[in-house]
Amino acid sequence: VFPSLCVLITHPTEGALLYDTGYAPGFFAATQSFPERLYRWTTPATLPPSQSLEAQLGLRGLRLSDIRTCLISHFHADHIAGLRSLPAARFICMRDDFASLAGASRFGRLRRGFLSPLLPDDFEARVGFADGSPAQSLTGAWASLGKGYDLLGDGSLMAVPLPGHAPSQMGVCLEDAVGRAVLLCADAVWSRQAWQDLDLPAWPTRLVMHDWQDYRCTLLRLHELARHEPGVVILPSHCQESIEAYRAASGGRP
Ligand SMILES: [Zn+2]
Repeated sequence: VFPSLCVLITHPTEGALLYDTGYAPGFFAATQSFPERLYRWTTPATLPPSQSLEAQLGLRGLRLSDIRTCLISHFHADHIAGLRSLPAARFICMRDDFASLAGASRFGRLRRGFLSPLLPDDFEARVGFADGSPAQSLTGAWASLGKGYDLLGDGSLMAVPLPGHAPSQMGVCLEDAVGRAVLLCADAVWSRQAWQDLDLPAWPTRLVMHDWQDYRCTLLRLHELARHEPGVVILPSHCQESIEAYRAASGGRP
């Protein structure tokens, strides 16, 4: 099982935010024809109706139009497939991740795991860059991660660059509803073993990394974070074990 995590964040004044969208029906439409169909062949995905963004938000009393902000970790299709279904959301990402897609050919984009039809037509008018404001030194449990960006201006969501898998990749540090420090780290690692044991991916997987040296440095930062701050919850987007452990500690639902 290789889940694709989408996180709902409820902020007292900013309302409902998402961190990534996971898969969505748009993914299957965008991979109908070649060459994009290759993407679906190499990473076969299923999306039961009960797992759709709309259904999962509905369980929490929310509609797709209630999402006011969507934080984009990076532009791989399994993280952004639902952007088109968020009519009222502004988007926040790291500048280099978006810039790396501009000017790339159709094949070049596909090779980087990006499917252009997934972006809303007015994406550029709705996007802002997390790193458009000055970086700040992170404090407390997050100090070892270096510098970050205050996404909402109140310190509640700090974006931190986790480069390697993608040019920049935006991780987010936050405190959850019961006071746990949580790092949403997207694809900086794919499993708990990776940061616990410094377990580097095998060679074929390295070929899909944007920058292997950056990937290793990011992995080392997560390893050090876990070692010095064992209370911090590190949540990768595709680690079933980590997601289930977090859910279990939250009484069944994060
Ligand atoms: Zn990815």
